[in-house]
Amino acid sequence: MSSTLSHLECAKCGARHDADIEQHLCACGRPLLARYDLKRASVLLNAAVLVQRPMDLSRFRELLPIRDPKAAITLGERMTPVIRLSGGWYVKDEGSLPTGSFKARGAALGVARARELGAEDVALPSNGNAGTAWSAYAARAGLRAHIAIPAAAAENYAHECAEFGADVQIVDGTISEAGRLVGSWVAARGYYDASTLKEPYRIEGKKTLGFEIAEQFEWRVPDVIVYPTGGGVGLIGMHKAFEELHALRFIPNRMPRFVAVQSSGCAPIVHAFNQRQPVSTSWENAHTIAYGINVPKAIGDFLVLNILRQTGGTAVAIDDADIIAARRRTAINDGVLLCLEGAAAFAAAERLTKSSWICENESVLIVNTASGQTQV
Ligand SMILES: *Cc1c(COP(=O)(O)O)cnc(C)c1O
Repeated sequence: MSSTLSHLECAKCGARHDADIEQHLCACGRPLLARYDLKRASVLLNAAVLVQRPMDLSRFRELLPIRDPKAAITLGERMTPVIRLSGGWYVKDEGSLPTGSFKARGAALGVARARELGAEDVALPSNGNAGTAWSAYAARAGLRAHIAIPAAAAENYAHECAEFGADVQIVDGTISEAGRLVGSWVAARGYYDASTLKEPYRIEGKKTLGFEIAEQFEWRVPDVIVYPTGGGVGLIGMHKAFEELHALRFIPNRMPRFVAVQSSGCAPIVHAFNQRQPVSTSWENAHTIAYGINVPKAIGDFLVLNILRQTGGTAVAIDDADIIAARRRTAINDGVLLCLEGAAAFAAAERLTKSSWICENESVLIVNTASGQTQV
């Protein structure tokens, strides 16, 4: 047993929960975060140990929740590349992960841990990529996946989930309505609720994104990380990864400035950040071509807003037309085809450079959260 998982802690009220039984939200309604015995982890995990390990998701297994290493579920995930663009910025390109997006990180860990805790049916709402990733890993693990997909999301995602044998339901409305349907399944049929941040382990998978970035930047973090934000799990995950790596003395006590990027058609986090609100309000009539970030109200919004403020970060909304134009520019200038969400992040970095919020000599990392190939 190499995981040093010790307990779960409410992200809001701090209440402590048992990590070895199925858990979802805290009694106060907020997400739970996995906590580790960092002292023991720091004895078990160091640079000398790391060099002997494969470049896969289990590389930092002491800081991951799977109790039995044999319970891991893999579709051959490898550390994703960091590509330097001609302008000097870096792109962490997540498109090569199984099912074509960084949702694979959350699904690999989330499904494995759900199975380890005895789940047989996992249910979640999804705009697309989480649905395909959870469908694939559930198929791999022998679990049944039940996915609610908003009608507004791309139709081909529903077909892809069904190919993996998932039970797929198309829902009128956005991810919020799809989430309500999943809630009713969970209540009536006892499915394991795998909705964003309604179980504590998807974020642990997303943490591996932060582990990889720190290692690829030779144990310094970039000055600025620009992240297309929907539910915010990737951003919360990266921040948590850097905190834990610092506790283990892998990196100094310095966080990047995090930038949350949304579409102008659905920008609740940007609005709340600008209004200095601690939480967001649900965005009316949400619409954007960047499905992955079409989330009108995120349950972890307060965590994202905290991280933006604590790290001196910011939040930016980009028009769909500018997303498409930015995607074309990186394709032509650099041969890098970003996904629409990644292109939004790139456009945000351009805007922040123009306004001198980002300085010329700063290292800037743009997270390209999915393959550009699957979107037109
Ligand atoms: C899910 C998704 C996002 C947003 O991720 P969160 O962690 O929910 O903020 C961004 N881009 C793509 C392509 C996605 O699928």
